[in-house]
Amino acid sequence: MGAAMNAALPPVTRFAPSPNGHLHLGHALSAIVAHDLAKAGSGRFLLRIEDIDGTRSRPELADEFRRDLAWLGLEWEEVPAQSTRLASYTEAAEALRARGLLYPCTCTRKDIEKAGALPGLEGLIYPGTCKHRPPDPSRPAAWRLDAAKALAETGPLVWEDALAGPQAVDLSGLGDVVVVRKDLPASYHLAVTMDDAADGVTLVTRGADLFAASDVHRTLQALLGLPVPRWHHHPLLLDVHGEKLAKRRGSPALAERREAGEDGRMLAEQLKMQLLSLGTLS
Ligand code: GLU
Ligand code: ZN
Repeated sequence: MGAAMNAALPPVTRFAPSPNGHLHLGHALSAIVAHDLAKAGSGRFLLRIEDIDGTRSRPELADEFRRDLAWLGLEWEEVPAQSTRLASYTEAAEALRARGLLYPCTCTRKDIEKAGALPGLEGLIYPGTCKHRPPDPSRPAAWRLDAAKALAETGPLVWEDALAGPQAVDLSGLGDVVVVRKDLPASYHLAVTMDDAADGVTLVTRGADLFAASDVHRTLQALLGLPVPRWHHHPLLLDVHGEKLAKRRGSPALAERREAGEDGRMLAEQLKMQLLSLGTLS
């Protein structure tokens, strides 16, 4: 389905947190943006717990997230968590593998650094070490998307960001990304693409830090014959030092503020005001 057709329908948005840490203000903003865009278009706002990483996931955090969202004054529909959908990822990966679009990579992070990888949009760009060598069966392998082959199959692709306008897919800043992790049946890229399609998401809302990832997702949609949503990457909240708000920099968890008796709805209003001041609530 084309983007233009989707635009007229009530949007389906989602908030997709990973239960491996508390939610902070940046998450609250993402959830509020997704919620309000759905509401403004008489659409649906979905919550999906992205718990694919079983070793890092803490199930009790999913409950905490629900309490946080309710505290912010949001209403949502919850869809199945990623851990229930592993079979669909395996099936998609097998289809891509059968078409020669993935290759196994046994490199460790150290190997990639030693191979002289250049910095890209999301960490180092994989230098393609394993692309032309037979896999070593004694080492665990991830599976990477052969970006050149993928492009040859899909031809030029575009996607539409509600704020930034039409975007031409360009995978050169990301390289051959991991589609199947060494320890899991999917990477973030494959899981989120499959899930957004399965959930009927028509407007993918998330922070601008994931802007480049949408090139990968658009490519996977084309390769797998999935419907194409629109995207809305909202600007990131910055702290007083002008740096991205992140858990590791000690931004207080929503749960902490909630338990301290702060008014969540008031906080939600403040975040919306801040977004307006960033100049891009549309
Ligand atoms: N689980 C991902 C995260 O927490 C979701 C990102 C997205 O919205 O695509 O960052
Ligand atoms: Zn490799």
